[in-house]
Amino acid sequence: MEPPWRGAFVPPGVGGGEDVAEGKCVGERQATPPSPWRLSCQRGRATVVVPVRTSRVIAAGVASAATLALPAAAAQIDGGMSAHTFVVLRRSVRQSLTRFIRFGLPLYCGGSRRRDVALTFDDGPGPATRATLRVLRRNGESATFFLVGRNLAGWPDLPRAEATLGAVGDHTWTHPFLTRLPSSAVVREIASTQAALERLTRMPVLLFRPPYGFHDRDVDRDVRRLGMLQVLWSLDSHDSYPPPGASAAQIVRTLARSLRPGSIVLLHENLRQTEVALPALLLGLRSVGLRSVSVPDLLAVDPPTVRQLRSGIRGCPSARA
Ligand SMILES: [Zn+2]
Repeated sequence: MEPPWRGAFVPPGVGGGEDVAEGKCVGERQATPPSPWRLSCQRGRATVVVPVRTSRVIAAGVASAATLALPAAAAQIDGGMSAHTFVVLRRSVRQSLTRFIRFGLPLYCGGSRRRDVALTFDDGPGPATRATLRVLRRNGESATFFLVGRNLAGWPDLPRAEATLGAVGDHTWTHPFLTRLPSSAVVREIASTQAALERLTRMPVLLFRPPYGFHDRDVDRDVRRLGMLQVLWSLDSHDSYPPPGASAAQIVRTLARSLRPGSIVLLHENLRQTEVALPALLLGLRSVGLRSVSVPDLLAVDPPTVRQLRSGIRGCPSARA
């Protein structure tokens, strides 16, 4: 007997028609969703077409709940990775991101009502990006990549691959200390990178992370004016700082000790120790039932409360910045 699908979506005001949800899956087999939903799994992408009016609302009233967990379908598709297979309605992701951009406050973590965390990789793209993407894809995990504009020319095809696996954010053009620059230079650093990333990914780029995490009220205001969400972190892996960065074993230990549901984790692309740590780190995630999602997906499925957001990093459980 097929176990029932469970899920929660359709915030008030979504309206009728069909919505398309996309997620990840492994394998090519078709699963049989309850009529009239349509599900396919091709080349690792799960697509679900859901007639909005007939979709079941499990958690009505939870305005931002937008996850469809698909255990039955997932079990058929990937034979055992059901806990890692999920889809998020694209429309709901857009809505929740827009909501947080409007708040205009830096984001440090998600909520802690689910088992999701967001791994973030700064300073790419670069020579190790492909390997990082391969490991993430093989494990069915996702991530967010904050990219530096001046690195893009060397690897123009990678931002789109990163955006497809998770999400891409802006990490300035030259990686300066923004708090030492006049506002005009701050805006130039961010806007030029955003434009280049949008051209390469063919997607809107609305996430921003300041280099070294250095920001102040002026930087915050500039980011707000650019209509972007500033994303900091609640857990530093210390893979990069203090130099030369923690060893792979230390990175894995730090995360094993301090990861909590809703954590946003700071990691770096193109550091040998991070690359070495990644497989063990993902294994560790799974062993405690956590899953990595992109920052936009985290905001859609498990957003921080407004009170958490206003408290900054103090609003994050077990923050270690
Ligand atoms: Zn950086």
